[in-house]
Formats: sequence, C-alpha cells, structure tokens
Amino acid sequence: MPNSLNLKLFASLRISPMITLLIAVMALIFLVVPLQAADNGGRPDPTNPNSVDSALKALKEGNARFANGQSTNPRQDKNLLAKLSQDGQTPLAAVLSCTDSRVPVEKIFDQGFGDLFVVRAAGAVPGIDQIGSLEYAVAYLGVPVILVLSHTKCGAVSAAVGEAKEPGALGELLAKLSPVAKAVEKVDQTKRLEAAIKLSASMFREQVTMTSPVIAAAVKEGRLKVISGVYDIDTGSVEFNE
Ligand SMILES: [Zn+2]
Repeated sequence: MPNSLNLKLFASLRISPMITLLIAVMALIFLVVPLQAADNGGRPDPTNPNSVDSALKALKEGNARFANGQSTNPRQDKNLLAKLSQDGQTPLAAVLSCTDSRVPVEKIFDQGFGDLFVVRAAGAVPGIDQIGSLEYAVAYLGVPVILVLSHTKCGAVSAAVGEAKEPGALGELLAKLSPVAKAVEKVDQTKRLEAAIKLSASMFREQVTMTSPVIAAAVKEGRLKVISGVYDIDTGSVEFNE
C-alpha cells in the first residue's frame, strides 16, 4: 500500500506543473484581459500624442506644402502598414469632408497613413452616421481636432441652393442643406453659391458640436477643438475658420 500511495503522489506531482501552467493561462485570459479593458471604461486607450496646437499646425503646414506644390508625401511607405496594424491608430485630426473626388483629404493636407480620420458625406452633411463616426474618433482615438471641410464649386450645396428636387435618399440629404440655401436667398446670385458653401461649413461645425454630447463634453474640457474650413479646388488652399 505505501508503494501505491507513493506512486499516486508521484503522478500528481508530475501533473501539477501542467495544471499550474493551465491556471496561469486561464488567469491571463479571464482576469488580466478584462482588467486591462476596464482601466478605461472598457474602451481602447485613447492616449493620443497630438495636441490641439500641434494638430492645427500639421494641417496648416501640410496644406501650405500641398498648395505650393511642395508635398512631401510623408508616411506612405508600405512598411508602415505593419507598424500601424500593431500599434493602432492615433490620428492627428478627424475631418468631415464632402465626397467630391476633387477633395482627396490626406493629399490636400500632405498627410499619410494613420494621420487623418476621414468621415465623408456629400456636401459634408453631418448625418447620424457621420456624427457617430466623429464621436468614435473623439472617444476612442482621442483626436484633438475635428475639421468640417466644405469646398468651392460643391455640387451638393449647388443643388440645394438651386432648390433641386431629388427622389429617395439623395433628396433627404439635400434637405439637410436647405437651411443653408434659405439663409443665402437674398445674397446676390453671383455670390450665392460661395456664401452658401462658407455658411454650410460653419453651420455644420456648430451642428456637430450641438448634436453630440460626446463632442460637446470634449470641447468643454478643452481636449477638442472643432473648426471649419473651405477647400479651394482651383488653388488647393484651405481657408481655415477657427
Ligand atoms: Zn461637394
């Protein structure tokens, strides 16, 4: 009997390191991972090295380089993909832009992969999906700047000013531009579209902040600035409105 007991003890001693390892792995999976997620209310770490000032500087200097034909096309090497995939994204700004193909957002600010969180809709109209996307950029990625970017000769704004009636979802989108069209009704016709485009940028900038408690809170806490701008599709320059 003593021999048999010794054998059983020996067997249990041989298994125990495996059990210990299993317990350690289980502990990592069930304890450490949820604890890490809970550190920030279950959200990914929004630590973003960019500040309001550094983001504005990067956007302005990048656009100046582009408009002057001196783009440096930074951070577009394919080797950067693996690093971004591993480290995650910390974009310097979120941009709500029109969908117009003449407004390639990263290019006009001379930025690269992982630099800009771009949300688009025709006319830069902030619908619920666009605002939700901007909220994600603020709450999860910690972007310090949201830029609402209209552009000259915008077809969507032009259609709204011309009171175009479109069926379906396009009609609903254009209806969101009708307050802009109404506000510029009395402006001289030769300047009406330009006025509407400028107004749409500033109006949507206000709308983004007013509609979203997440964005409004970040602005109030001083960790986010919402600005607007108009991109000139002829010169390549952005006129910023802070
Ligand atoms: Zn447009």
